[in-house]
Amino acid sequence: MWDAIVVGGGLAGWIAGIRAAQRGKKVLLITEGVGTLFYFSGIFDYGEVENLRHLPKHPYTLFNSQAVAQGKRFVQEICPEYVVKDTPQSALTVLGTVRRGDLMPRNMVLPDRQEPCKLVLLVPEGLKDFFPEIVMANLAREFPGWQVSEKRMQVAALAEWTRLGKSVSSIDYANIWRSEEGQIALAHEIDEIKRRHQQAGKTQERLVVVLPSLVTEYFDASRTKPYQKEFSLPILEMSSFVPSPHGRYFAEYLKHVFSDLGGELMLGARAVSFNGASTTENQVKSCPELTVHSMGKSLCLKGEKFIIATGGLLGGGIKVGMVRQSIRESVFDLPLFVPKGWSDPRFLAPQPFAQIGVETDEWLRPLDPENGKLVWDNVHVAGRMLAHWDPWTQKCGGGVSITSGYAAAELI
Ligand SMILES: Cc1cc2nc3c(=O)[nH]c(=O)nc-3n(C[C@H](O)[C@H](O)[C@H](O)COP(=O)(O)OP(=O)(O)OC[C@H]3O[C@@H](n4cnc5c(N)ncnc54)[C@H](O)[C@@H]3O)c2cc1C
Repeated sequence: MWDAIVVGGGLAGWIAGIRAAQRGKKVLLITEGVGTLFYFSGIFDYGEVENLRHLPKHPYTLFNSQAVAQGKRFVQEICPEYVVKDTPQSALTVLGTVRRGDLMPRNMVLPDRQEPCKLVLLVPEGLKDFFPEIVMANLAREFPGWQVSEKRMQVAALAEWTRLGKSVSSIDYANIWRSEEGQIALAHEIDEIKRRHQQAGKTQERLVVVLPSLVTEYFDASRTKPYQKEFSLPILEMSSFVPSPHGRYFAEYLKHVFSDLGGELMLGARAVSFNGASTTENQVKSCPELTVHSMGKSLCLKGEKFIIATGGLLGGGIKVGMVRQSIRESVFDLPLFVPKGWSDPRFLAPQPFAQIGVETDEWLRPLDPENGKLVWDNVHVAGRMLAHWDPWTQKCGGGVSITSGYAAAELI
């Protein structure tokens, strides 16, 4: 029997699984897919935590400031490239605008604005959904007084793709930067920028190369080599865009951290229901067995505790049938909080459906929103599956998922 079975391998599930394994628990993590890390910008947003804590039933009401800070520090502990500061930091979006963020990799943190420097945008040829003209215009507007220029680069490995007119995603480029050939090409390009700069006699000026896509190897999945090549100039990475190389490599990295700590994994497996439950009117139920479909087989897995981090509507943890009333949590059949109106016709307005999810007590155990009764005492809910929050307008997606994932693991 596992001490805990974590269902869902998105941000919340991985954080919960890793923390529980680090605490010496016997943990199994089951996941069907990668979740919304596919869209991840590389930056964890926490939002205005203190203000959000005043919203009725917001997940942040379940945690004090210490718990939020603990989760942040944990991310930095398992992935030291992430920088934790007391105040939010700024980064460049893929459009060349500046955005704030609470937890981001070192290479993404914008240099101090008070000290002007020269930015050189390195544009990898054929990069899909990347618009250098827009980026250049935005950089010029965001950094008045700074010099901004652009350099296009070609990678020999992609000559055939270019010839065929095939576009190259940011993940393709991230993979190339991880090959020896790609590293040499990138290093050469950066040396060239530096050489030209020196030739122009501007050796005093601070020079930074701006790069879309991911180059830092803090997610060295194999962790067999000190991977990152030393480049002759600092690189400022822009935030990721879909498909997200940061998300992909981060998920990969988390998987390795979890396995190294002794966690067991079932990838591509879907939890479908739990059984063996005893249900009586007056007793809190227990749910010792989880039914999982994996590789064409049906398995019954036993655990002491369960962490459900299946990601709500987008992650696949909440299913909506043909009739709107048929909305349901798809594994434990947990009762959901569902607002009366689901959508607002104003495109950028907060959308009520974002609030759909499971209400919990302070131990993250599911409650019935109808009567406030505890549904399961050995199930803890984390991440997007929680009710009463909106990652988009409140900009707290990473914060709620990390904090609740970490807190759930502490309860095992
Ligand atoms: C487009 C987009 C961009 C975002 N960008 C950012 C950002 O840049 N920064 C930020 O801080 N936040 C961002 N967020 C918010 C953030 O990604 C989410 O709040 C957070 O990642 C949710 O994590 P989660 O683990 O709860 O769910 P998810 O990431 O959705 O993961 C759920 C996991 O559960 C698995 N699963 C579901 N059902 C089952 C089942 N029955 N059996 C087994 N596995 C199952 C899924 O396959 C998936 O792996 C973004 C969200 C979206 C939608």
